[in-house]
Amino acid sequence: MAWDFETEPEFEEQLVWMRGFVREEIMPIETLDLSHDQALTFIKPLQDQVRERGLWAAHLPHELGGTGFGQVRLGLMHEILGQTPYGPVVFGNNAPDSGNAELLAAGMEMTDGAQEYVRERWLQPLLDGTIRSGFSMTEPETAGSDPRLLKTRALKDGDEWVLNGHKWYTTNGSVADILVVMAVTNPDIHPYQGSSMFVVPANTPGVDIVRDVGSMDDPENHYGRFGNHAEIRYTDVRIPGENLIGPEGSGFLLAQARLGPGRIHHCMRWLGQSQRAFDMMCERAVSRFTHGSLLSEKQTVQNWIADSRAEMHAARLMTLHAAWKMDQVGASASRDEIAMIKYYGATVLHNVIDRSLQTHGALGYSTDLPLEQMYRWARAARIYDGPDEVHRQTVARHALKNYTPSEIPSEFIPVREAAAREKFAGMLEFLEAEKV
Ligand SMILES: Cc1cc2nc3c(=O)[nH]c(=O)nc-3n(C[C@H](O)[C@H](O)[C@H](O)COP(=O)(O)OP(=O)(O)OC[C@H]3O[C@@H](n4cnc5c(N)ncnc54)[C@H](O)[C@@H]3O)c2cc1C
Repeated sequence: MAWDFETEPEFEEQLVWMRGFVREEIMPIETLDLSHDQALTFIKPLQDQVRERGLWAAHLPHELGGTGFGQVRLGLMHEILGQTPYGPVVFGNNAPDSGNAELLAAGMEMTDGAQEYVRERWLQPLLDGTIRSGFSMTEPETAGSDPRLLKTRALKDGDEWVLNGHKWYTTNGSVADILVVMAVTNPDIHPYQGSSMFVVPANTPGVDIVRDVGSMDDPENHYGRFGNHAEIRYTDVRIPGENLIGPEGSGFLLAQARLGPGRIHHCMRWLGQSQRAFDMMCERAVSRFTHGSLLSEKQTVQNWIADSRAEMHAARLMTLHAAWKMDQVGASASRDEIAMIKYYGATVLHNVIDRSLQTHGALGYSTDLPLEQMYRWARAARIYDGPDEVHRQTVARHALKNYTPSEIPSEFIPVREAAAREKFAGMLEFLEAEKV
C-alpha cells in the first residue's frame, strides 16, 4: 500500500544543502539596505552556485531549461526559499517571472510548437534573468475577484492588435521589460472563450506606467522599486499578432495553468515564513521573563505555540497533498485542494506571524525584527491570487453539489429508528422471545 510521507534520500540531500545555503548565504543580505540592482550584483555569485547544483529555474520541465521536479519536490524547495524574499530570486523562480515563464510555456504547448519563437524571444531571457516581467490583469474599475468583468479590450487590425485598458497592481510593472496583459478579444461570446493574453514590451508607444501604487508592501512608495505594484494605462497600444500567447481566446485557460502551480508555491513559501515566525516566537518565549515566570510558562503563550504548530502541520500536509494530486491528475482535477490551501494557508501565515509579533510586544512591532514586514506582506496573501472568500465559495459550491434537499433530515432519528425496526424485525422478535 502506497501511503508515503518520506522524501527520497537524493532529494533530501539537496534540501539539506538549500537549508544551509539560504540560512548562511542569503538571509544575511536581507539586513542590508540595497537597491534591487545592488542586490542582484550581490546575489549573482549565489545564482551561479544554484546553477551548478542544477537547481536553477526548477519550475519548468527539462525541455524548457528547468529541472522537471514536479510539484511535490518544488513545494518542498519553495518552503525553504520562501523564508527570505531573496530566496526565489537566487533560485531563478521569483514571482511574477516564474509564473509568466510557465504561462509562455503553456501557450507554446497549446499551439503545438507554432509559437516556438517565444522561447528565444521571451522565455529564455526570463529564465536567464536578463529581462523582467509583470502580469497585468487586475483593473481598478472592475472586481479583480471576477475576471469575467474585465474591460480591457484588444481589437484586431490587420496583423496587429490594438489594446486599450487600465490596469493596476501589476507587480513589478514599473521595472518590467515585458508585460503579460489579459484583454477581451471577443466581447460577443462568454469571457471564458473571448479573452486572450499578450506579451506587451513595456517600451511600446501607448504604455503609460502612471505610478507605483503605495501599499502596505512599501508605504513610502519608492517608484521603480522591485516588488512594487504599478498602475498602467494602455492607450491604442499596437501589438504584433505574434505577441498573442497561445491561441486566441485562451486567456482563462492560461490563467488557470499559471495560477494552479503558483498557489502551491505560494503556500509552501508561506509555510517557510510561518516557520521563521514560529521559531522567533519560541525563542522569545523561553527568553522573556515577566510576572514571575517565563512567557513559555504562560498558558496563553503555550496555546499560541501549540495552535501554530498544529495549524502549520495541517497546512503543510494539505499543500503537499495538493501538490501530489496535481502531479498525478493535473491542475483542473485538483481545483478544490488548491482552493483550500489558498485560504487555509493564507490564514495560518497571518495568524502565526500575528502571534509571534504579539509575543515580542513592542519589539515585534518595531523594525528591529523582520516580523512587522512579514506581517504586512502576509496581509496581502488573503487578497492576491483571488481573495480567500472566492476560494471558499468554490470549495463550498463543489461540496454542496453532492447533496440534495431533504424535507426531513436524513439523520432524523425517529424515522431511522422506524426503518431499523422494520429491517431487524426478526432479530428484535427473537430477542423479545428469548428475553435477552
Ligand atoms: C500585493 C498584491 C499583489 C498583486 N499582484 C497582482 C499582479 O501582479 N497582477 C494582477 O493582475 N493583479 C495583482 N493583484 C491584484 C489581485 O489579484 C486582486 O486584488 C484580487 O484579485 C482581488 O481583486 P480586487 O482587489 O479588485 O477586489 P474585489 O474583486 O473588489 O473584491 C473585494 C473584496 O470582496 C470580497 N469578495 C469578492 N468576491 C467575493 C465572493 N464571491 N464572496 C464573498 N466575498 C467576496 C473579498 O473580501 C474581496 O477582498 C495583486 C494584489 C495585491 C494585494
